[in-house]
Amino acid sequence: MWLPMPPPTPTLLQRLARLKPYLRSGRRGLILAGLGALVGAATEPVIPALMQPLLDQGFGQRSWPLWWVPVVIIGLFAIRGLAGFIAQYGLAWAAQRAVLALRQDLFNHLLAAPTGLFTRQSASQLTNTVVYEVQQGTTMLVSALLTLAKDSLTLVALLGYLLWLNWQLTLLVGLLFPALAFVMRQLGRRLRSLSVASQQATDELAYVVEENVLAWRIVRLHGAESAQAQRFTGRGERLRRLMMKYTTASAAITPLTQVLAACALSTVVVIALWQSTGTGAGGTVGSFVAFITAMLMIIAPLRHLSDVVAPITRGLAAVERGLDLMEQTPRETGGRHDPGRARGEIVLEDVHLRYRDDGLPALDGLSLTVGAGETVALVGPSGAGKSTVVNLLPRFVELSAGRVLLDGVPLADWDQHALRRQFALVSQDVVLFNDSVAANVSLGADVPRERIQQALASAQLLDFVNSLPQGMDTVIGHNGGELSGGQRQRLAIARAICKDAPVLILDEATSALDSESERAVQAALEVLMKGRTTLVVAHRLSTIEHADRVVAIEAGRVAEQGPHAALLQQGGLYARLHAMQFKT
Ligand code: ADP
Repeated sequence: MWLPMPPPTPTLLQRLARLKPYLRSGRRGLILAGLGALVGAATEPVIPALMQPLLDQGFGQRSWPLWWVPVVIIGLFAIRGLAGFIAQYGLAWAAQRAVLALRQDLFNHLLAAPTGLFTRQSASQLTNTVVYEVQQGTTMLVSALLTLAKDSLTLVALLGYLLWLNWQLTLLVGLLFPALAFVMRQLGRRLRSLSVASQQATDELAYVVEENVLAWRIVRLHGAESAQAQRFTGRGERLRRLMMKYTTASAAITPLTQVLAACALSTVVVIALWQSTGTGAGGTVGSFVAFITAMLMIIAPLRHLSDVVAPITRGLAAVERGLDLMEQTPRETGGRHDPGRARGEIVLEDVHLRYRDDGLPALDGLSLTVGAGETVALVGPSGAGKSTVVNLLPRFVELSAGRVLLDGVPLADWDQHALRRQFALVSQDVVLFNDSVAANVSLGADVPRERIQQALASAQLLDFVNSLPQGMDTVIGHNGGELSGGQRQRLAIARAICKDAPVLILDEATSALDSESERAVQAALEVLMKGRTTLVVAHRLSTIEHADRVVAIEAGRVAEQGPHAALLQQGGLYARLHAMQFKT
């Protein structure tokens, strides 16, 4: 049987390569960082190399003056420090630019993403990806890459120095050290697995207690106490054994590694001494100490390098969530039709819509025509599809079959921005931005202040706004927490008035406002609705009565439509709904 090949898992390098476009703007920083790491690594062998003249000549006949010592030592560490600083600075410079570029890209993608993204992923998930994961991932990745660069260069430098000093001994060390590292790693692995096992055993013990506390009635009723006690003892005993094993291993690991290290070290020392005395190769105290120092100095970068893969993969995984998000959310697509201002005639022809492939249809062959300037109230039981109808118009959801036309042109042929310019939305959940009142009304559109003021006045908000400390430049805080429900709705109305779109979508609030706010909102709405095609998801009797037509929707279809009074007389769905909702 032929099976499709799974896509090959990309290597670490391939995965890192995806980040390349973002690192491009920080290339100079990367070069600087590379230079810094190179200089830093080059200074490493100088430290053991200094031991040689210091020990061989420092206590006898010196061929150099004494002031040479502080100059060289301080100078060396100054260069090293500067190189380290430059490496870190350069890398941070490049990384922070990459973070900014990646974030901007991600955010722009969010602004243009197909609307399905926002039903699939929650706001906090997306925030987390764009803001936190990008930062954490990059920080982790960058410090790991710096370690990789610095320590591998240091390793090369020290190793070169050792080989130059005494290649035979270096080769021997090259055999001994990996063996030692292997043993230590095995011990560490056992320790980790014991730690995981004892954690599990602790959890299991905890479950037994928890179960017995929660189910004490059943335990007593069934006389299960002794069985439960046995269970508890069994788990407790297992945990005790594991803890002892863990302690044994962790107590043994330090002395054991020390003894092993001592074995390796003494081998090296013996051979070095034997080489210099026995063979008469002319080894000096200085060169011996230099060798040992360099050998010990090599341990640190080796250890760092063995731990560098984990933070790289973890950092990469965090950043990749952002990259994947972008890859999986192509930009919204639209047509080119842009006639300026639409008349506002809306036609839905046999529209079908499913949110999920396996779900029930939300719209099931719905047809509806709304003339330009007409006010239509959509009513129906909850879940009938009213919100879906209005969400279709600005293409917040995509239909599965059928056609939706605005001014006779299918929505898909409209330029996305041009289409959305034709709609103003006043919905029951009013979202406010942490910005000034004026900015919340104009929402970034370049409109004169007088128009904003007029909009606020028409929405009956001007008195309130004028009473604020900075008038319409007052920042209303995170999601406008200080505004009342009625004020929020009127602000949304002011927004819609200011936008002056030909089609108005009104999703009425279900929760009642106090009667004074209600009157103010109604008055503001009347101003807004004048001269526009209006679709209302209606809950209020006053709106329904004043609509030109009532459309009753049930199970994704139009059940009946007509003027309010006629429908009431007809005694169908609308009459039933009306009787339920507006019992007088
Ligand atoms: P109404 O506005 O009349 O209460 P909706 O248009 O909100 O009805 O919903 C119509 C149907 O579509 C309901 O069965 C609802 O559960 C479903 N629905 C609405 N939005 C979504 C969504 N984002 N994902 C999945 N199903 C949805």
